[in-house]
Amino acid sequence: MDAIKDGWFSELSTLWPGVCLSLEVEKILHSEKSEFQDIKVLQTKSHGKALILDGIIQCTENDEFSYQEMISFLPLCSHPNPKQVLIVGGGDGGVAREVVKHPAVEHVTQVEIDARVMQVSKQYLPNMGVGLSHPKVSVFVGDGFKFMKEHKNQFDVIITDSSDPIGPAESLFQQSYFELMREALKPGGIVCSQAGTVWCGLETVVNTFNFCKNVFESCSYGYSAVPTYPTGQIGYVLGRKIERTNFKEPVRIFSEMELEKMGLRYYSPEIHRAAFVLPRFAQKALYGT
Ligand code: SAM
Repeated sequence: MDAIKDGWFSELSTLWPGVCLSLEVEKILHSEKSEFQDIKVLQTKSHGKALILDGIIQCTENDEFSYQEMISFLPLCSHPNPKQVLIVGGGDGGVAREVVKHPAVEHVTQVEIDARVMQVSKQYLPNMGVGLSHPKVSVFVGDGFKFMKEHKNQFDVIITDSSDPIGPAESLFQQSYFELMREALKPGGIVCSQAGTVWCGLETVVNTFNFCKNVFESCSYGYSAVPTYPTGQIGYVLGRKIERTNFKEPVRIFSEMELEKMGLRYYSPEIHRAAFVLPRFAQKALYGT
């Protein structure tokens, strides 16, 4: 079956067998095969432009803010002073755009494996791509797993904004990656990784959560609503090195005025707390209670 048929794109994947989301397409704005993956930008009828990698929706202009804000501010607001931040993946630039808004952040290092994703994003998705050109952001092209091996004791927060665990991102969903991230963090440092949804592939979510739990003193799973991700939800695994922490309670609480000034549309202290309240089946699967 073609991913684009009769004017509709369908997100077909073995990761969610038997079900998929479809978006009506007005125009294919860009299509290429890079060294690592198939890259497409679609003008959709309902969700603005959409970035598609290897047939999987990475972000749409209409709902990307939920994911980008949550994967950034859940860890940043759980850390007392997140000065040095590392982003792995994140080629569209949306996470970098959000991270630099936090007043404590002094410098962001970003490691993305595919230079073409960043170039395409700057060209077609400038509202996200803008993050990659911010003066506080240094971008490296390379494999996040390899980069992690070469950096020790350097970062306050590491955000892994990767594609799904098929293809180049596979190594970012292994326990050895969490071990390397621990070494790359300063004491008290925090990691936050894209970790799938509890509504499909619960086993993958539990595995990723356990890898994090086996390596870090504190570990939690939160989620947010993103209508164009599989099942309309996406999860985040958070871990903290050495210090025990209650991720449910943000240590940095932004006022309404600060949230407005930063242009945040999804994240708030209230939604931070709510993100970690799980339905009973997921709570049991992850925490056993
Ligand atoms: N928000 C998105 C999602 O959850 O679907 C992810 C967006 S971002 C575009 C994902 C990026 O991770 C891609 O640009 C991809 O090239 C990058 N990536 C995949 N594997 C990587 C690796 N091993 N090292 C660095 N970047 C990687």
